[in-house]
Amino acid sequence: MITDPDCLFCKIIAGKTPSEQVHSDEQVVVFKDINPKAPIHLLIVPRDHIISLNELSVRHDGLMGHMIRLLPKLAKEQGLNNGFRTIINTGPAGGQIVFHLHIHLLGGSGLGGTGF
Ligand code: 5GP
Ligand code: ZN
Repeated sequence: MITDPDCLFCKIIAGKTPSEQVHSDEQVVVFKDINPKAPIHLLIVPRDHIISLNELSVRHDGLMGHMIRLLPKLAKEQGLNNGFRTIINTGPAGGQIVFHLHIHLLGGSGLGGTGF
């Protein structure tokens, strides 16, 4: 497992920084966003310190499939029976602030239109 001691999400995964965790397995940890943009706002974070989508290779295909298939399960657990939104910000111009790959899962109300 690759980790970066200076990375915020690596610290959360290691339990050194507190978070409100809702799911954990061998490959990922899921916790609530500290500054939620919707009533439900979760972050799906791989245990491996991968910076962004730009750093993915074929060896991550299993992990990425796992993360994507986890989304509807988490949404159902959170009571999001009418749909949800997922976002992956990549790089500074893509709005990425934490440089450890993560998928945002948002839902609960007020999400409509184009998603921008
Ligand atoms: P990005 O813009 O990199 O895609 O999203 C980073 C997200 O991490 C933001 O939505 C921000 O609110 C969240 N975040 C930043 N610091 C913390 C923290 O210490 N704990 C948690 N749970 N979320 C955080
Ligand atoms: Zn990290």
